[in-house]
Amino acid sequence: MKTIVANWKMNGDEQLCDNLIFKLKDFDVGQSLIICPPFPLLFKFKNCRFCLGAQNCGIALHGAFTGEVSPQLLRSLGCSYVIIGHSERRRLCDENDDILVKKYEIAIEANLIPIICVGENFQEDYRLALEKQLNSFLKVRNLEKSIIAYEPVRSIGTGIIPDSDKIAKIVSFIKGITSAKILYGGSVDSSNVADILRIDPVDGVLIGGASLRTEEFYSIIQIAKNCC
Ligand code: PEP
Repeated sequence: MKTIVANWKMNGDEQLCDNLIFKLKDFDVGQSLIICPPFPLLFKFKNCRFCLGAQNCGIALHGAFTGEVSPQLLRSLGCSYVIIGHSERRRLCDENDDILVKKYEIAIEANLIPIICVGENFQEDYRLALEKQLNSFLKVRNLEKSIIAYEPVRSIGTGIIPDSDKIAKIVSFIKGITSAKILYGGSVDSSNVADILRIDPVDGVLIGGASLRTEEFYSIIQIAKNCC
């Protein structure tokens, strides 16, 4: 199965965790499924068979950073992945490329695999925007072992998805810059996931809203398992 990342953002509760764990109890998704709940819900997934990721991490392993969470602690709570540079954090929390590279480096030090989100804004040329965002990471360690999520900002939560040729073209463009795994993200649901996963250079999907509805998310995983 290609990779599926669920980004719950600031949503979900213990009940949602229980529902998902129950629904997937007999489903062998292993390393291909990565659930990224809010920090306080990470403990619910500690012994699950699928992978766990955090949505963000602090810029140091420990210290005087009130309100931040150490990547080392995330690792000890069972996380193998951490999302870095989601467009909401770039826009709402002013996270710039320097901060994101620091987060990347410290995540690697804590033995987490970064999932770096990139994507052009409404008016931007995708080549210029992606080159700028990715250039900052070209000197970091292990970029080829991390994951890049290509998320055009206009597609996040809007139902607007670029056509398959365009996704293929842009993902191939990113693959010309790095050999990391590339996911597509933005308005993926059970009605379009098969088409997106069948796009050859796409290695998986990052899912926001649709991952919060257990039945819908379960359908997505089943489709992903059977389609390629
Ligand atoms: C996201 O926020 O990364 C995302 C892909 O959201 P959605 O699936 O809701 O568009």
